[in-house]
Amino acid sequence: MGKMEVINPRTGVSDHAITPASRDDVAAKAAALRKAQPAWEAMGVGGRCGVMARWLQAVKARAADIGEADAHDTGGCHTSYLQGFITMGNIGGWLEDAPKAFAALDFDAMSPSMPSVRVQSQVVAYPLVGVISPWNAPLMLALLDAVPALFAGSAVLLKPSEVTPRVIETLFETVREVPELAAVFDYVAGPGEVGQTVIEQADTICFTGSVPTGRKVAVACAERLIPCHLELGGKDPCIVTQSADIERATTAVLRGAVYATGQVCYSVERVYVHEAIHDAFVVRLLEKAGEVRLNAGNPRAGHIGPFTHGPQADIVAGHIADAVAKGAKVECGGEVENIGGGRYLRPTVLTGVTHDMAIMQDETFGPTIPVMAFSDTEEAVRLANDTQFGLTASVIAGTAEEAEAIGRRLNAGGIFLQDTFLTFAKMRTFGTDSFGWSGHGSPRIGPESLRRFLRRKSLLTQTGEVADIRNDHHLGEDA
Ligand code: NDP
Repeated sequence: MGKMEVINPRTGVSDHAITPASRDDVAAKAAALRKAQPAWEAMGVGGRCGVMARWLQAVKARAADIGEADAHDTGGCHTSYLQGFITMGNIGGWLEDAPKAFAALDFDAMSPSMPSVRVQSQVVAYPLVGVISPWNAPLMLALLDAVPALFAGSAVLLKPSEVTPRVIETLFETVREVPELAAVFDYVAGPGEVGQTVIEQADTICFTGSVPTGRKVAVACAERLIPCHLELGGKDPCIVTQSADIERATTAVLRGAVYATGQVCYSVERVYVHEAIHDAFVVRLLEKAGEVRLNAGNPRAGHIGPFTHGPQADIVAGHIADAVAKGAKVECGGEVENIGGGRYLRPTVLTGVTHDMAIMQDETFGPTIPVMAFSDTEEAVRLANDTQFGLTASVIAGTAEEAEAIGRRLNAGGIFLQDTFLTFAKMRTFGTDSFGWSGHGSPRIGPESLRRFLRRKSLLTQTGEVADIRNDHHLGEDA
């Protein structure tokens, strides 16, 4: 494969290029990582923490550059500039949590079922973890899996999206400052086919991306009989009840739906508002949506940026056109704007939507807010659960108790009450499972997520007499 041009999302023209890895390149990198991995695992979690602490310092020194590179890749949003610090938080959290998680996994005791047998159980890392990551939040979504895998004792081969390679290149400048880490952590550039060659080499795969690609990844992993952990998309609902505070609800819904131009897996993608407050809710939402500014001209100013991947704008425009053709009304926004070559969409509120529209069924991944009225809680729960996905859901009600009662009935892994967009609060606590098409495999957040990279192995020692088959007697048989 020759060089691949990389488009700048703010200008629509190429200002970067990558050299896609060949199958031989991927195999050579995988072999080198495999060779280094046993020493990395043998260091123990304490030794690895020492190395990772040095990496944390290297990231700290380059945190601003990492933020700039992420903004260059994505077109810039508030979170882009924080990526260096988010990476430091990720590594720093695992520095505290990994030793405790490993200690909790140790087991050395006499067996309760065979009291003469000592059971020593240990965990052994998968030698090579493949991580395949998407173009939205390109650094964070790569490192959510790669960092715990490294703490677990695995080597990691990362395949970032071809759309957003710059921030990964900057990150790896920090990795190379720590030679013990560089020996077990590497990446390969290129398109989807390169992801397939990573699957051919790895012992387990963590994939974040769309449902169609996730299916292909699952099939390829099944062919090789290796585990895969898939984090896929969402169509996350928000229910606003009759008793909700409209100020609170509109503020939470607006941010949850348009943050990072809606290119977040757990964005609010559908809003159900009680019919008694529907009209007042829409009026206030429109006022607030009108105050959201694009960052065209200056990526550090404004609230939302261009589409990171230009063609995503066509998918979003297609959902809006389908909704309008089926009777929906665009209350604000609705037109993709080309500004300086970047493709932008202002917050787009739609009313009169129904569940036969793509905008209420398929992942839109844009700053759209389709609002639908409901008449009672049963209907709201039924509509919210009418989806193939199940990543997150939100409920905003007059009281936390009312919201909780509804939230307990929703089919999704993360339920946000009295707000939206609370996923970060789960960090270092509990991971959640993805329901339905939103994912497959074990949670990626919290200490238990380390287990994805570890296999349990037990040594069983007989400390008593060995059993003699000639002494086996059937019930009722004379001795
Ligand atoms: P894609 O599924 O298109 O791509 C994801 C990654 O897979 C990219 O690195 C891509 O490479 C690679 N890839 C493409 N084809 C193959 C293949 N056949 N085998 C192996 N790898 C392949 O997702 P997007 O990049 O478009 O990301 C957006 C999607 O990610 C949305 O659906 C979003 O909801 C989801 N997502 C899910 C999250 C979650 O935690 N649940 C979090 C964030 C996003 P390349 O880009 O180079 O083609």
